[in-house]
Amino acid sequence: MATAAEKMGRALLALAALLAIGLLAANSASAGPTTTRLAYATGEIVPLPAAIPHEEGDMVDRRIVPNLRWIAARFPIYVTDGYSGPLPSGEHAGCDQCHVRNSDHYNGLAVDIVPLSPSSKCDANWTGITRLAEWAEPLQGQPAAPFRWVGYNGDAGHGCGHHLHLSWQHAPVPQFQLAEWVEVFPTGPTTGRKPRPKTPPQKLPTGPPGGIGTIHAGGVSARGD
Ligand SMILES: [Zn+2]
Repeated sequence: MATAAEKMGRALLALAALLAIGLLAANSASAGPTTTRLAYATGEIVPLPAAIPHEEGDMVDRRIVPNLRWIAARFPIYVTDGYSGPLPSGEHAGCDQCHVRNSDHYNGLAVDIVPLSPSSKCDANWTGITRLAEWAEPLQGQPAAPFRWVGYNGDAGHGCGHHLHLSWQHAPVPQFQLAEWVEVFPTGPTTGRKPRPKTPPQKLPTGPPGGIGTIHAGGVSARGD
């Protein structure tokens, strides 16, 4: 007769086996982050930090910056456009009139990406970008959470040799406003665990350096949604 302890042991073993199967299944999918969360922190359009290679003047909602840092540390990206629209200062950020209606660029929750080593042909420089695109959208038309839309091969005006568009799921919001929440993935101890020391609120730069995002590598601006 099995003792209570033995029964408990078997139950735990069964549970462990189930967990292992679950992990294997998750690994075999191998695409997209394993977990995501909704960030309700106050949004703000901020300049991209230097750790995320980008065209001068590019800005995004600060709530996706940790995800972009994580991506930039693992994939050879160069951001050509982020937020596109007016700033509180009266200046304009991002490329003008180059995104589709209702584009997530108008909320600072999308980026356009080309390889860090530029190339307007689909060559070896694009290998890392293709890897990123496949991670974010393992099946065409079915982006992995937290991505809302991934524009790459199979999407007009996007793809290897052109550009990759990534945008994040967010609460419905009119253009040029900040979404109430943004879906993001946790980025681990280096960027996500400790609260950063309090710093005084930073003002948006008053005149972002000229020529922001108007010229994209490889003629990206035509339909850069
Ligand atoms: Zn785009």
